[in-house]
Amino acid sequence: MSASAQANAVAQTFPYLVREPFSVLLVEDQAALRASLTSQLHQVGASEVLEAATADAALQLFRLRRPDLVLLDIRLPGGNDGYWVAQRMREAEPGGWTPIIFLSGLDGELDVWRGIEVGGDDYLVKPVKPIVLAAKLRAMRRLRDMRRRLVTLTEELHVANQRLNEMVEMDPLTGLVNRRGFDRMLHREILAGRRDGTPLTLMLCDLDHFKSYNDTLGHLQGDACLKEVARVLREVCMRPRDVASRYGGEEFALILPNTPRSGAMTFARALGKLLQARDIAHPGSPGGNTLTLSGGITTCVPDETTSAESMLMRADEALYAAKAQGRNRFFSFEMQMDTIEQRQL
Ligand code: GH3
Ligand code: MG
Ligand code: MG
Ligand code: MG
Repeated sequence: MSASAQANAVAQTFPYLVREPFSVLLVEDQAALRASLTSQLHQVGASEVLEAATADAALQLFRLRRPDLVLLDIRLPGGNDGYWVAQRMREAEPGGWTPIIFLSGLDGELDVWRGIEVGGDDYLVKPVKPIVLAAKLRAMRRLRDMRRRLVTLTEELHVANQRLNEMVEMDPLTGLVNRRGFDRMLHREILAGRRDGTPLTLMLCDLDHFKSYNDTLGHLQGDACLKEVARVLREVCMRPRDVASRYGGEEFALILPNTPRSGAMTFARALGKLLQARDIAHPGSPGGNTLTLSGGITTCVPDETTSAESMLMRADEALYAAKAQGRNRFFSFEMQMDTIEQRQL
C-alpha cells in the first residue's frame, strides 16, 4: 500500500481524529519531506499544520501559536539542532507541557536517549508510516485532553477552596466575619501594629436588653434586627482594614487598625449616632423604645506582651463598665471615660 493510500485508510479507520481542533508544529528542513508529512498529518486528523524549516522559525511559531504537538527534526541547518529547540521550548512554557516528538533519520539508541533527556516525549524514525503517525497523534491528543481536564479541574478546585475558606470565616446570618475569622484577623493586626508601631483598637459591642427584644418581638424579628445592626457596622467600618465581626450571639467585635484612643472614641460616637438614626424599634426595652448597644474599647500600640486574649479581656471589662454605667454608651479604660462623658466635654 502506498503512503497516501495508507493515510486514507487511517483517516477512515479513526474518524474521531478529526473531531476537535488539533494543531501540529512540524519542524523539518527538507521541503519535500515537510510537504509530504504535512499532507499525512492533515489526513490523520491534524486541523492545522504549522511549518518551520529552521530552529529560530520553530521557536517563534511555538511562542506565537502554541501548538498542541511539536514534530521536531533533529538535524537542522545553522548552529542549533532539534535538541536545542526542545530545550528552549520547555523553557518557554514553565508549568505547561506541549508534547514533543522527535523526528529523525538517526536511529541510534543514544539519540533516543538524548531526545527524551532534553524534554522530548517520543521519538520517530524517518520515514514515518502514516499508521504509526496516526497512532502517535492519537496518544498525544489523549495526553493533551487529559492535561486540559486536569487544568480545568485544578482551577475549579481552587475556586471551590477559596469559597470554602471564605465560608469557614463567615457568619451565615449576618454575612460578617465570624469568631474564627476574627481570631485570625486580630492576631494578624497585633503583629502588624507591633511591627509598625501603630495603635490598634478593639471594640466589643453588645446589644442592650436583647433578650427582651426577642421575648417581645420573637426570634425571627431578633434575627432580622441582628442583620440590620450588621449593616450599620459594615457602614461605619469604612477603612479597608477595619473589620466588623459577629463575635457571638448579640455581640460584635470591631478591629480598627491604626486607630488611636481619640479616634476610637470618635468612631464609637459615630456608630452610636448611626444606630440611633436607624431608630430600630425595641418596645420591650427598659431604657427607651429604640435599640441601643454598649461597647468596650481598648487601644494600645501592641508590644511583646500584647496578645489577643489580653486585648479581649480589657475590651470585655470596658464593656462591663459601659453596661454598669447605664448602657447605650462606649467605655475606654485608656481614656478613663465613656462616650457620654466625652460628649459633655
Ligand atoms: P444586656 O443589655 O445586659 O446585654 O442584656 P441582654 O438581654 O442583651 O443580654 P443577655 O446576655 O441576657 O441576652 C442576650 C440575648 O441575645 C439572648 C438571646 O436570646 C439573644 N440572641 C443571641 N443570639 C441570637 C440570635 O442569633 N438570634 C436571636 N434572635 N437572638 C439571639
Ligand atoms: Mg533535517
Ligand atoms: Mg451579650
Ligand atoms: Mg446584650
